[in-house]
Amino acid sequence: MIKILEFQFNPVEVNTYIVYDETSECVIIDAGCCNKGENEMLQKAITVNNLKPSKLISTHGHFDHVMGNSFVCETYKISTYMNKNDLGDVERAASHASYFDINIIQPPVPQNFINDGDEIKFGNSTLKIIFTPGHTRGGICLYSESDKLLFSGDTLFAGSIGRTDLPGGDYDVLINSLKKLMQLPDDTNVFCGHGPRTTIGYEKSTNPFITEVM
Ligand SMILES: [Zn+2]
Repeated sequence: MIKILEFQFNPVEVNTYIVYDETSECVIIDAGCCNKGENEMLQKAITVNNLKPSKLISTHGHFDHVMGNSFVCETYKISTYMNKNDLGDVERAASHASYFDINIIQPPVPQNFINDGDEIKFGNSTLKIIFTPGHTRGGICLYSESDKLLFSGDTLFAGSIGRTDLPGGDYDVLINSLKKLMQLPDDTNVFCGHGPRTTIGYEKSTNPFITEVM
């Protein structure tokens, strides 16, 4: 059974998730930690729970979601998984962050590219990749059918959806991605890139951006 530790990191308040199961192997989704205190908080949770990180997964390449990639990859000798379409965003992460007066260590270039239908395995668990472009060109969500979980990155939020006014954003493409997510079972718990968790069923019936187009 999948267990989740949640953190809210950096000035943009990104949700970082440590996802593990009974084997203690874990993956880290969206390393948003941006300073010594946040790095230590993440590290402590891994140590206290006796976890073994095996992969870092970035739901997309925006700087606020990859600020901690350098720390996580170096500390745990693991590499980043993401969709190739967001490589440019990662390459520009430090310069984008500087527009917001935020200093980040330039993330290492991701080496592992994931696409729709791919599976990320850790311990006895599997997360399936759902390609959900629209917020960025290479946005992905991670889905566990058995545990009824979705990590939605910045594609779907509780009561909202990802912005499409940044480079690579496209409203129509995002709506198509959201329609794909709305096919998932209503009782799927959604862990978003920012803000509180929700469920597919709740968003399907109450999210104004979704009810408008469904
Ligand atoms: Zn984003």
